[in-house]
Amino acid sequence: MSEENRNLGDIFRRLIDNTGPISLAQFMGESNARYYADRDPFGLAGDFITAPEISQMFGELVGLWLADMWINAGRRQPVLYVELGPGRGTLAKDALRSARQYGLEPEVHLVETSVALRDIQEEAIPQAIWHDDLSTIPKGGPILLVANEFFDALPLRQLVRTDKGWRERMVGLERDKFVFVAGGQPMDTAVPAEWRDAPHGTLLETCPAASAILYEIAGRLADQGGAALIVDYGSEELNAGSTLQAVRAHRKVDPFAAPGKADLTAHVDFATLARIALAREIRHLGTVTQGKWLRALGIETRAQALTRRAPHYAEEIGRALDRLVSDDQMGALFKVMGLAAPNWPDGAGFEED
Ligand code: SAH
Repeated sequence: MSEENRNLGDIFRRLIDNTGPISLAQFMGESNARYYADRDPFGLAGDFITAPEISQMFGELVGLWLADMWINAGRRQPVLYVELGPGRGTLAKDALRSARQYGLEPEVHLVETSVALRDIQEEAIPQAIWHDDLSTIPKGGPILLVANEFFDALPLRQLVRTDKGWRERMVGLERDKFVFVAGGQPMDTAVPAEWRDAPHGTLLETCPAASAILYEIAGRLADQGGAALIVDYGSEELNAGSTLQAVRAHRKVDPFAAPGKADLTAHVDFATLARIALAREIRHLGTVTQGKWLRALGIETRAQALTRRAPHYAEEIGRALDRLVSDDQMGALFKVMGLAAPNWPDGAGFEED
């Protein structure tokens, strides 16, 4: 059997047997690469549902925001729409349709590693150009970048305070079951100074891949101009504790149960991402809850307009609105972070109360 078709759990078991515990980042990175490679995980029949799949209103308001930024920055051409992890391409399609109404018709560049999802995206946005990562995105013209539920799927590291100091939390084996074990290497230098003396057992998460990608985005915004919207679940400050979760068929499952068959995610650390943006001297417009941002962009008015046009769908539109903005749904846990090049405008939805 080829390596791709082998059960990923067995591959990990053999690796750990031969070389010892592996990092959680390796476990999560390879699990998610396998998970997304050959499936469409979205929607009712899939494993989870994302904001753009709940309602077209989400993508339309993203498109409106981007168009507003671009117009206020002087309508520069050429201009690039760049999306990280576009899923089914629904967000891009809705955003580009609404942006076009304001005269914004950017080149479309999609960063996607999954072959199966690229095929689906191509049906939604045939004119797009695909990339494995940001490095091949053209260097001319401002970038309007969007990432929804992309950062949460990037490989995470967990650090735990033991009686010997900070150690990485590794994945080991107890007979043939995966278990967490503390690594042998001291990790104290990877921990922010204010957390170094935290009580034994304290757990902190870091996502080096997220930091690296944000660094690259910020560099592009600084060099080329433009703005970015990063939407994900997470908090505005670093908290202790594990947020790692696995979701399959709309249920939380044990992250170790079936590697490559469930979506592994963790909260996004927006505070760290904002710090990186500022360190590269681009603007952090703000990080606000999804509910607040969508309301500020006029989602309620948009819902009323849709309902007037399709009264039969009134209930469905109302339910979608509630899911996107209510505090007990996605409204409070999900955050929207706005970034912009130094001489770009403030952007709607990030004003102080
Ligand atoms: N933005 C979409 C999909 C979110 S799921 C939506 O909101 O519906 C995560 C997406 O990121 C998928 O498209 C997945 O294939 C992609 N992805 C995950 N890790 C990636 C990586 N390292 N590089 C590029 N794309 C990645």
